[in-house]
Amino acid sequence: MCGIVGYIGYREAYPIVLQGLQRLEYRGYDSAGIALYDGSNLKVSKTKGKVEDLKNRLESEISTKGSIGIGHTRWATHGVPNDINSHPHVSNSGNLVIIHNGIIENYDPLRQELLNRGYTFSSDTDTEVLVNLIEDVKTKENVKLGKAVQIALNQTIGAYAIAVFDKTKPNEIVVARLGSPLAIGVGENEFFIASDATPFIEYTNNAIYLEDGEMAVVRNHKKLKIRKIKDDSLVDPYVQELQLNLEQIEKGGYDHFMIKEIYEQPDAITDTFRGRMKTKEGIIRMAGIDDNLDKFLNARRIIIVACGTSWHAGLVAEYIFEEFARIPVEVEYASEFRYRNPVIYEDDVVIAISQSGETADTMAAIKLAKAQGAFVFGVCNVVGSSISRETHAGAYTHAGPEIGVASTKAFTTQITVLTLIALKLAKHKGKLSASEFRTYLQELERIPGKVKKALESNEQAAIVAKEYKDATNALYLGRGYNFPVALEGALKLKEISYIHAEGYPAAEMKHGPIALIDEQMPVFVIATKKGHYEKVVSNVEEIKARSGKIIGIVTEGDVEVRKLADHVIEIPETLEPLTPLLSTIPLQLLSYHIAVMLEKNVDQPRNLAKSVTVE
Ligand code: GLU
Repeated sequence: MCGIVGYIGYREAYPIVLQGLQRLEYRGYDSAGIALYDGSNLKVSKTKGKVEDLKNRLESEISTKGSIGIGHTRWATHGVPNDINSHPHVSNSGNLVIIHNGIIENYDPLRQELLNRGYTFSSDTDTEVLVNLIEDVKTKENVKLGKAVQIALNQTIGAYAIAVFDKTKPNEIVVARLGSPLAIGVGENEFFIASDATPFIEYTNNAIYLEDGEMAVVRNHKKLKIRKIKDDSLVDPYVQELQLNLEQIEKGGYDHFMIKEIYEQPDAITDTFRGRMKTKEGIIRMAGIDDNLDKFLNARRIIIVACGTSWHAGLVAEYIFEEFARIPVEVEYASEFRYRNPVIYEDDVVIAISQSGETADTMAAIKLAKAQGAFVFGVCNVVGSSISRETHAGAYTHAGPEIGVASTKAFTTQITVLTLIALKLAKHKGKLSASEFRTYLQELERIPGKVKKALESNEQAAIVAKEYKDATNALYLGRGYNFPVALEGALKLKEISYIHAEGYPAAEMKHGPIALIDEQMPVFVIATKKGHYEKVVSNVEEIKARSGKIIGIVTEGDVEVRKLADHVIEIPETLEPLTPLLSTIPLQLLSYHIAVMLEKNVDQPRNLAKSVTVE
């Protein structure tokens, strides 16, 4: 899991590669490095730390000349994050230089073999093994770099997106992918290489996304040839025109991507149902469902597989699908599902949720479900991502790029897509009348406006945050549709402020967690009207009786919880199943403000990365 960037052409490579790394830093950020060839020397500069650290070091260490270059932001899998383990890695001869995203699983036996043949290694990485394996093949077989890469990769097991060049032949970069993303930007007499299109969007709109198992030799002034790594067969390059613009990926005046993305939710949700929801006609159109309606209507079960925040969206979906479509739903952690021996029937529908569409565990769960004959449907944000291609059909969330590591708009747009699906199925199954169906569509249309209203709680959230920022523990409670929101609220707090927090179904509290409550413990209670309100009020009373600090997320105009709570944050009223789209907003804001007040790195919290492409 990391970001890779490369450039070959007529411009100076350094500024392009450096800026590309800055844009890709969300993918991994424990170290960074760049390699440039200036016509006579290969120069490599790398360091533990951020791209900014690299910039400072590199500019005093090496000249930045050269029109071929590669760069990497690392998220270590083999060897601790330090200068030596950072990429790029150079082969023993000093000629080949590589950047790599992924894991070479059989690196150890390969390393032993190379050691026996006299190779030496300075780092602990699997990547340094790979670059020397390529070198070994190249000299042994006396083949060109492209061929050597191909032969070497066929000896590896694992996942990779790589870019490698030879300083003795500095007019080409060889790239390949299996299990990690790789895009090639196609310009006039120049090529860009990157984990996604953001590094080259201002230079070209034309991109080729390599498929798994493909490689390409990218040459100056030449047409690109793509081959299958396994059998060397040629593949027709499919050049896509990109819609993404730069503005979309910049912070747009906010201090952090996370807060920008929190505020983008009204638009993001609108984009999610745009073109799909025809409220006047009373229909929902979603190609991925329409084309496979029988599979959904005849599904024995729906199994949702996901990780992290997407798993919480899956839990919300469980309530919504069962309520509306009356189809039994199971929600599974992808990482557990894939490693037990789950019973999967051919008439099961598996829904895989992943913002990035690259989550390795979710991908493995998809492959397992497919192998057992189930129909697999993807809910992803990143268009053209691996999961969106691996699934039989799917629906994009269209939330736009999410750069902040703590997921916000991805969560609410995932819930929106899943709600649309549930409503659509309910209608086809005759579980909702035409007028009930229309009522939901009308209310969904109002949701972006209500999210805007919920965002007005920002100031209040900052006041509450100030009060509780020094807490060492926190509890989040909710019932029904708001139980997964409680889990998500706790996760947000943990992720960015490193405060220990747990989410619980409010009624479960008395089966254990209530023992934790004392005057030090802030308890965030989602106590919206409807949604078992009276029961939640009783739970609030129980907390009060034990001197816990109560922060209520309540419906506008609430009286009862206000009487009991130390603080309340109001959200607009909506239909109960749509509440999570609103109740989650103040919890996102609270976590954000607490993390900012604690001076944490909000967009890049420690130990985390945006898309988890390792198991
Ligand atoms: N496995 C490689 C390493 O540990 C690459 C990790 C990454 O994708 O950043 O260096």
